[in-house]
Amino acid sequence: MQIIDGKKISQEIKDELKAKVEMMKANGDKIPCLAVIQVGNDPASSVYVGNKKKACEYIGIGSKSYELPEETSQDELLSLIDALNNDDEITGILVQLPVPKHIDEDTIIRRISPNKDVDGFHPMSVGALLIGEDGFLSCTPAGVIQLLKRSGVEIAGKECVVIGRSNIVGKPMSVLLLRENGTVTICHSRTKNLKEVCKRADILVVAIGKPKMITSEYVKEGACVIDVGIHRMENGKLCGDVDFEDVAEHCSFITPVPGGVGPMTIAMLMNNCLKNI
Ligand code: NDP
Repeated sequence: MQIIDGKKISQEIKDELKAKVEMMKANGDKIPCLAVIQVGNDPASSVYVGNKKKACEYIGIGSKSYELPEETSQDELLSLIDALNNDDEITGILVQLPVPKHIDEDTIIRRISPNKDVDGFHPMSVGALLIGEDGFLSCTPAGVIQLLKRSGVEIAGKECVVIGRSNIVGKPMSVLLLRENGTVTICHSRTKNLKEVCKRADILVVAIGKPKMITSEYVKEGACVIDVGIHRMENGKLCGDVDFEDVAEHCSFITPVPGGVGPMTIAMLMNNCLKNI
């Protein structure tokens, strides 16, 4: 059994991107600049935003942060997005989700110019993914593909089961595995015989949002298990959607939580920031 080291792989990717930016600087090319917008001061969001700014600094691209008060109106947020859409210095725009309840997430996502949609959530980006065109890929699922490829896990022809069909993880994950020629099954809360379906998987990707729900009863001997879930337990430690202790010995490959999929999301965001430049 091999534990897939997401920290190491994400560092490799960030170092590759850093080298790319150094080349761009040496050639006098335009250097990307990411605008990060946070509305309100949810502590988890503040940590994510801080990490994104640090990653920009590490790879050598610009970042501008916009910390708006909780009571910011939707119109004010839309006006800021419009201004950033029209600002040539800004090459990527990210609105940290979730936004406060009085702001409609979909309206915000659709307002970001598809050319600057580094989160890959705009319907244009999602559509491009579905029809196999080049575009911004949703960062977490794109990170999973990198984990698999860089660990030498073959996807083509394999039975891939994804648990979860959210717009940010499950759906794009399934399409990316299909793009890599996997045979893909998508499971959700209405799936019958979940255990049996999961037991067919050579590659099982779990994005279910339920701490430690996936035990060895769901896993075929020798499968590769990717755990997208992240939860903080009562003792303060993090865990995933997979019961790691129970499942690990039955796998060929498995991602830990923390240190698996989590660090890949920011690495792939940085990758998106260097796209189309
Ligand atoms: P959602 O809650 O949006 O989606 C969960 C999905 O799981 C839904 O499609 C739901 O089905 C399905 N589901 C829920 N319960 C069951 C069940 N008992 N049996 C089968 N399917 C079930 O979550 P997200 O996709 O946003 O996130 C999933 C997990 O990944 C979370 O733990 C989240 O914290 C984590 N995450 C981690 C990231 C990272 O960077 N590592 C990034 C994003 C998310 P239905 O559609 O029918 O309701």
